[in-house]
Amino acid sequence: MLRNLMARLFGRGEPEEVQIPPDAWRELCRDQPEFAGLSTEECERARVLAGRFLAGRPFYGGDRFVPDDAMQMRIAGLAVLPVLELGLDWLADIRSVIVYPDAFHVDHEEVDEVGVVHHVNDLRAGEAWSHGTLVLSWTDIEAGLDLDHGLSVVIHEVAHFLDGVNGAENGFPPLARGQSRTQWTQAFQAGFDRLNRQIDAGEPTGIDPYAGSHPAEFFAVLSEYFFRRPEALQHFDATIYGLLEEFFRQDPLGRRAGRQGASERIAVRD
Ligand SMILES: [Zn+2]
Repeated sequence: MLRNLMARLFGRGEPEEVQIPPDAWRELCRDQPEFAGLSTEECERARVLAGRFLAGRPFYGGDRFVPDDAMQMRIAGLAVLPVLELGLDWLADIRSVIVYPDAFHVDHEEVDEVGVVHHVNDLRAGEAWSHGTLVLSWTDIEAGLDLDHGLSVVIHEVAHFLDGVNGAENGFPPLARGQSRTQWTQAFQAGFDRLNRQIDAGEPTGIDPYAGSHPAEFFAVLSEYFFRRPEALQHFDATIYGLLEEFFRQDPLGRRAGRQGASERIAVRD
């Protein structure tokens, strides 16, 4: 439906920006849980950023799936939300997007604790390929509209890319100016260890136990929570919430509570 409305602007032979229809975009800002509490100004800024994201990156379908313009818009919106205050340069490593209709199988090898290599076939909702491809399952993105049941697969994978900007994906992205590497490392290590103790003891964790599988997953899952369920992250670890607030330069908890200064905020979805 949006295809006819979206016009690519061309300059010097290169597409510079996709014009995302403002009405459709406002619906996204209103309905997508991760956008809750954004001001109209922030929503509009995200629209322009998403248009730039779309212009430079081809979208492909896996398994003969065709990601239409509305799907591409939603994916672009979720991809740019984490860098709304950081800038699109942070997503420079994402050069193309592949969308599967559903969760997809991935063959890979894992080395266990004694060094034995195992061939593994996993079902995935998303992947961040190191050579610059963001791979996603549309079913899981669509399910994300339901705050109670969905995940935030796009933000999860984008967090992996942000983590990898300075090299290895290890849960240690390039920090904001003034952030302490020591404080970051100590807080994330302590949170990771505490989560794994809770998992080992069979205690309720309050966040997805998958975060305990690796420090990189810890950062990616907590980034999901930061944007999607900030109150749950604050409850799990207020120090980490504060560090992510400094890193992303956003306060999703504050904007849901109307604590920030912006005069006009879009109503939070019921
Ligand atoms: Zn992951």
